Amino acid sequence: MAADGNNGASAGSQVDVVVVGAGFSGLYLLHRLRAEGFSVRVFEAASDVGGTWFWNRYPGARCDIPTTDYTFGFDPELERAWTWSEKYATQPEILRYLQFVTDRYDLRRDITFDARVEGAEWDDKTGLWAVRTSTGETVSCRYYVMATGCLSVPKAPDIEGAPRFAGEVYFTSRWPHEGVDLTGKRVAVVGTGSSGIQSIPLIAQQAAQLTVFQRTPNFSIPAHNGPASADRLGRLAADRDAYRTAGKWSRGGVPMEATDILGGTASEDVRRERFEAAWEAGELFAILGVFADQGVDPASNEIVSEMIREKIRSIVDDPETAEALCPKDHYFGTKRPCLDSGYYATFNSPHVRLVDLRSTPITTITEAGIDTAAESFEFDVIVYATGFDAMTGALVGVDVTGRAGVTLKEKWADGPSTYLGLTTVGFPNFFALTGPGSPSVLSNMAVSIEQHVDWVTDCLVDLRAKGMTRIEPTPLAEDGWNQHVADCAAISLHPTANSWYMGANVPGKPRVFYPYIGGVDNYRAVCDEVRAKDYLGFRLSAPEAEQCHDGVIRRLQPDVAMVLDAMAQMELPPLESMSPPEARAFMEMSNGARPPGPDVGEVVDGVLPGPAGELEYRLFRPGSPGPHPVVLYFHGGGWVLGDQVSDEPLCRDLCVRTEAVVVSVNYRHAPEARYPAAAEDAWAALQWVAAHAIELGGIPDDLVVAGWSAGANLVAVVTQRARDEGGPVVRGQLMLTPVTDSAMKTRSYQENADGYVLTAPLMRWFWDHYCDPAQRAEPTATPLRGRLDGLPPAIVVTAEFDPLRDEGIAYAEALRAAGVPVEHLAARGHTHTSLTMVGVVLSGARVREEIALRLGALLREPVEV
Ligand code: FAD
Ligand code: NAP
Repeated sequence: MAADGNNGASAGSQVDVVVVGAGFSGLYLLHRLRAEGFSVRVFEAASDVGGTWFWNRYPGARCDIPTTDYTFGFDPELERAWTWSEKYATQPEILRYLQFVTDRYDLRRDITFDARVEGAEWDDKTGLWAVRTSTGETVSCRYYVMATGCLSVPKAPDIEGAPRFAGEVYFTSRWPHEGVDLTGKRVAVVGTGSSGIQSIPLIAQQAAQLTVFQRTPNFSIPAHNGPASADRLGRLAADRDAYRTAGKWSRGGVPMEATDILGGTASEDVRRERFEAAWEAGELFAILGVFADQGVDPASNEIVSEMIREKIRSIVDDPETAEALCPKDHYFGTKRPCLDSGYYATFNSPHVRLVDLRSTPITTITEAGIDTAAESFEFDVIVYATGFDAMTGALVGVDVTGRAGVTLKEKWADGPSTYLGLTTVGFPNFFALTGPGSPSVLSNMAVSIEQHVDWVTDCLVDLRAKGMTRIEPTPLAEDGWNQHVADCAAISLHPTANSWYMGANVPGKPRVFYPYIGGVDNYRAVCDEVRAKDYLGFRLSAPEAEQCHDGVIRRLQPDVAMVLDAMAQMELPPLESMSPPEARAFMEMSNGARPPGPDVGEVVDGVLPGPAGELEYRLFRPGSPGPHPVVLYFHGGGWVLGDQVSDEPLCRDLCVRTEAVVVSVNYRHAPEARYPAAAEDAWAALQWVAAHAIELGGIPDDLVVAGWSAGANLVAVVTQRARDEGGPVVRGQLMLTPVTDSAMKTRSYQENADGYVLTAPLMRWFWDHYCDPAQRAEPTATPLRGRLDGLPPAIVVTAEFDPLRDEGIAYAEALRAAGVPVEHLAARGHTHTSLTMVGVVLSGARVREEIALRLGALLREPVEV
């Protein structure tokens, strides 16, 4: 096939760029680099182009992203010249397409086939890579790009006795080009991932007997293959550019209508309607997007999962087989879901049998077949559909040696570490396309590949224009990116599954979440921003020049960033532009739209006596039998806004996590009642709650005072006063992003003056309403100036993007200096408000869990008498 490729005839032993791989990625990269005037050599282990679509020729192999989208979009002329025949094209058709692309752009002349790259070594003196291939050739290049594929290294058979089998053995990922005739044969298929699920119905059509060995049942939905979707075709025809742009800026690389419907709150009718529509659409991103929260909320996910199980049970006749086919050990979507054509119905054929390896594991493969714990099977053929050493297999499979003589395999021994999924510290001028830490396998890869190729090409063009010859990420940028990738994964359900996304399918492979789950759109924005900021996080150099704009590209928690973006889009008026009554009404209205917080055992409203009249409170009681410890809580709102219910979701969360009675007490607000009214009321509340602990269902003297923001200021004030007045007994104080100082001069005030909900002007507005400047230095307004020895143990929580961060830190440090036990929790990537957004900012839950653990320890410690 490669006979017309000249296999090195035009090749030099020194080129600008060596590219490894001639699949979608390598082909497009070659096309772009060549157009930009770079000399390029491509090495490909296969005998022709195609990559995935060259190797995976098993019966039924097709794409699972509609071909309207799983196609190159970089050249409108190419799109006019090629018409896909169906919604999901077969492997032969996709391979023909890639060959067509290769010929159209005359790519073969720079590709060397049947040449496996075995090693690549960086020479720091010359600034060149030496790339060694299986043909014995070594090529020198300035830039080395691995377009080696995420799913290109088949997983080695890891079943005892596998080499003993005397019959025919096939891997779906290395299917013979001439095809295999299974007619009349007894066939075993091991594996029920996408490859197994696609091939099983077709293998069943030929085989005399088919036995499917299933370790983990997978979720699959019908592809409903046929003509391409009229809707997608129509949108493409109407405005190709707009359609492609929508794909590029979508979450998964396919234009989709995003929903904000939540599984838990949707009515049964809406749930059913949305699910059935997705089932009928037969598209992965439709079924993955039935509800906005199914990827993060177990209960919402279970609704979709159970509806799929119902479908399986309705298709498969034998109830026992049906049940064995129903996935129950992972959340839907956390392992790659499959698209099938008649998979479940195949098990209704009398010659097809499912063996559930969970109940009867394989003990060994024999010469004649497969033994399980229950039975011996004889076969003519075993087909392994057992998957790949995904994401990193092909990268660490090459001996890539970087600047310090360390190989990529050594550097990534505990898991991959990248900047943008493209580059890695210690390996200058090295790029990995669709590597770990990029959206790749979670997306329509055609779109992700084009984005990566474009970015790398633009980068090399930029370097040339600047006269730079080296690029390497900085450790700070790489650590920051790894953190962001992990933060994104942590709020999703994905890390809970034993999936190949987690490296769980390959024994001994590090368990981390390999791809970037933040979305194609966000990822593209990040990459664009890095370039717009003149290669933020990279060191660029030439013999006589150097440039480095060091930094971290994403520091906010991903869900905090989403909330801030959504708020920015709403163009809300600043609170400080309103009068206090308007601001209160506005806050009440926004609070009405938030999730209510978790269920608690009981909610009781009451009043307690304050110095200037009754103070309302709301009490949250745990579901467990009491008595319980008590948390007296003061709400936030800058002494101007809020009341006993304004922080209800947070109070519920505290109640559930700590198993304590939480009493949220209102206090008088400014400007109607200025300083020290709030502090006086808070003091009265402390005395009353401590004195009435038993009737509130609490344990006497097992009391903590907690508060957020201005409420945390009151916590500091009342605990200082309780010390001075010899009671009540306070076991501890929890101060969540507290106001402790009125100076407003810290670095955090400057860094976070704007853009993170609590702004510097808003804080000034709060202070001005609350307290005269002359009084602000008093410890009952500025507790940082108070005496701090002899206070109860404190938990001080500060948020990275909060003007109040540094005064919180200062208070924690001052307490510690005064001999008070202090736990300081610094909430990375959070804002002043985000930790209180229960059920919205999911990353806040981890911090609240930490808080609860520490609070629990304070509450249950024996009191020193
Ligand atoms: P590949 O196509 O994997 O090409 C990499 C090439 O590099 C291979 O040809 C390999 O031989 C070569 N290579 C690797 N190492 C070396 C070396 N050391 N020396 C020389 N050559 C080397 N994605 C989707 O988005 N939609 C789909 O529907 C879809 N369906 C898929 C179906 C199957 C069966 C599989 C396995 C994957 C599927 N994927 C799908 C993912 C698919 O891999 C990508 O869409 C895309 O084809 C990857 O292109 P690539 O060029 O990056 O990598
Ligand atoms: P896979 O999803 O990893 O599935 C491998 C299957 O083999 C799993 O069922 C696995 O079980 C099983 N298995 C592995 N080792 C086993 C063992 N020792 N004993 C018993 N069973 C074993 O691999 P794949 O099906 O090749 O798919 C990989 C990815 O390629 C897909 O997720 C998808 O991204 C892509 N793909 C796409 C399509 C498409 O529809 N376009 C088709 C094929 C592939 P466990 O789950 O228990 O590990």
